[in-house]
Amino acid sequence: MRVTETRVAVIAALRGLPHAPADAVYGEVSKTLPTTSLQAVYNVLHDLEAHGLARRIEPGDHRSHYELRVGDNHHHLVCTSCGAIADVDCLVGAAPCLTPDDAHGFAVAAAEITFWGECRDCRQSSHEKSPTVPTHT
Ligand SMILES: [Zn+2]
Ligand SMILES: [Zn+2]
Repeated sequence: MRVTETRVAVIAALRGLPHAPADAVYGEVSKTLPTTSLQAVYNVLHDLEAHGLARRIEPGDHRSHYELRVGDNHHHLVCTSCGAIADVDCLVGAAPCLTPDDAHGFAVAAAEITFWGECRDCRQSSHEKSPTVPTHT
């Protein structure tokens, strides 16, 4: 892989923004490389993924997010309200974490698990928005 300014900037952006969608990466990269295009960032992300340097995750119908943490069989917690993503370590310490009852003859190499729920921030803000004591005026 050739080292280009854009590549270096994309990797730096992903270090600061784990699980970032391409446009957020572009937002970061354009701070240091104002001439970069979103398409150039997409191309770099695609290259990084193709070379195993970045991982693309698409939880549910969320758009693609990219991260630099690759090859450790980790999983994700995804917030059903705001889409925040957090890492969960490999559940049993080695891939695959789960084996199907019937693998249909497949040699199972990996299992990717998404845990869905409300993140701490959303739980706190929904708590604030719905007071338990009704107010009378
Ligand atoms: Zn949330
Ligand atoms: Zn992750």
